[in-house]
Amino acid sequence: MFSKKLKNLTPYTPGEQPQNKQYIKLNTNENPYPPSPITSQLLNNWSKKTDELRLYPDPDSKRLKQTLADNYNLKSENIFVGNGSDEVLALAFFSFFDPDRGDLLFPNHTYSFYPVYCRFFDIQFKQIPLNADFTINIKDYIRKDESTGIIIANPNAPTGIPLALAEIKELLNGYSKDRVVVIDEAYVDFGSESATKLIKDYPNLLVVQTFSKSRSLAGQRIGYAMGSKELITAINTAKNSFNSYPVDRITEELAIATIEDTEYFKKITSKIIETRDIFSSNLKQKNWKILPSGANFVFASHPKLSGEYLYTRLKKEGILVRWFNTAGIDAYLRITIGLPKEMDQLLIALDKIESEA
Ligand SMILES: *Cc1c(COP(=O)(O)O)cnc(C)c1O
Repeated sequence: MFSKKLKNLTPYTPGEQPQNKQYIKLNTNENPYPPSPITSQLLNNWSKKTDELRLYPDPDSKRLKQTLADNYNLKSENIFVGNGSDEVLALAFFSFFDPDRGDLLFPNHTYSFYPVYCRFFDIQFKQIPLNADFTINIKDYIRKDESTGIIIANPNAPTGIPLALAEIKELLNGYSKDRVVVIDEAYVDFGSESATKLIKDYPNLLVVQTFSKSRSLAGQRIGYAMGSKELITAINTAKNSFNSYPVDRITEELAIATIEDTEYFKKITSKIIETRDIFSSNLKQKNWKILPSGANFVFASHPKLSGEYLYTRLKKEGILVRWFNTAGIDAYLRITIGLPKEMDQLLIALDKIESEA
């Protein structure tokens, strides 16, 4: 009844999305602030023009691409949009990586969807160990033996540690010009430097971003890629062989307005950065080990209590964080930065757990 391909799949496990109990949800890196207030105005208008939903959306999302192009100082031909950056990444894997041209390289601790796509598309991969301090050593990726491509999340997940633009440049300079380097910038808006500036000089660079984290639209499902016309044309071929209409009419409109509301975007991202830095120094005072984060989460371990114990106890206290049962990082919790009062409640819960342990 089932295909052979299906039997070989190991699906990605997303963080819990509890449907009944009310948790303080710090486990899937969603934004604690609502999307731009303009989106609710637009949705009100939609209630009066539902007739338009009879019609398919623009298959090329031309208006949204132009808005993104203007925002990043690129051309519309340099932009690809899709149903969440997960879909954009999947189409990029399909378009650029082959099983017979060596391995796809990525860090041993990174976004766990990458190996899942490799299995889906039958791509060989090699996971390059992070340094002892969880940083990425760019030199490990610039190697003489063949690889089919590179994907790096910057900042990396779940560590939160960013790479400097100079390091990305070093990677691109040292690597084959006929292999694609994907930089997944899901968290770049929380204080690190985007590689979009390098697109003009490196036709083999693809930068992927999402509306799910810094733009507060995880529920709307919208992501995008930026790169040379050559790369974007290739992903379009893949997309038009799979789903012509990944972005619906309502989503395109909300996404455009969200990008245009730069003031609100700056306000919520800087608030999250501020909350992150305060929360990090509070944990440090309590002797936690905390990795330097450029993201909307922190990766931290307690001096005595195990990651699993803390995860389980916090859940009982009504607070969800993410714990990975993976050797090398299982002492750590990945904690999404929420509202200041949610982080205060977390600190209170941690005090209680420590005093009982
Ligand atoms: C959240 C996340 C994504 C996926 O984002 P969507 O646009 O919601 O699909 C991609 N890459 C990384 C590293 C992420 O953390």
